[in-house]
This record gives sequence, C-alpha cells and structure tokens, in this order.
Amino acid sequence: MEEGTKKIVMVVVILVCLIAAGTIYYINSSGGNSVPEVGEATVTIKCNSCGNEWQMDNREYLDYMITNQNRIGVVCPKCKKATGYSLKN
Ligand SMILES: [Zn+2]
Repeated sequence: MEEGTKKIVMVVVILVCLIAAGTIYYINSSGGNSVPEVGEATVTIKCNSCGNEWQMDNREYLDYMITNQNRIGVVCPKCKKATGYSLKN
C-alpha cells in the first residue's frame, strides 16, 4: 500500500470512529432521558372474578386506592367487576 493511500485510510478510519462514538453518545443521552422505566411505573392487576391480568400505571392505581379507601378493587376491563387487585400486595 502506498504512503498516501495509507494516510487516507487512516483518516477515514478515524472519522468513522468519531461518527460512531457520536452516534452512540447521542442515542444514549437522548434515550436515557425520554424513555421512562416502565417496569417500576406499572403494577400488574389481577381480577379475582375472571382471572384477567392487566398492567396499570402505578400512580393511577395508588390514586384509585386512595379515592376508594382500599375498600374495593379495581374495575376489571373484562368482566366489569371491582375485583382487581395488585399482585404485589
Ligand atoms: Zn374480571
């Protein structure tokens, strides 16, 4: 390989590395801020009447429980009975 061609290849390799690093940094910084941690923000509700399971926003669930003073469960979207309870508790 000629000396001149070698230099061009080196420059191209360095540029590709910089672009790759920049892209990875961009993806990491933008993704980390915009994507919420879904696993901690949701709660799994199970219906004691029909066995239906669904995901509910944790804050929404807590608000529901406070509003109803824990006396009744969450209304099941399948059988419409207020017998849905969090699997965590
Ligand atoms: Zn149900």
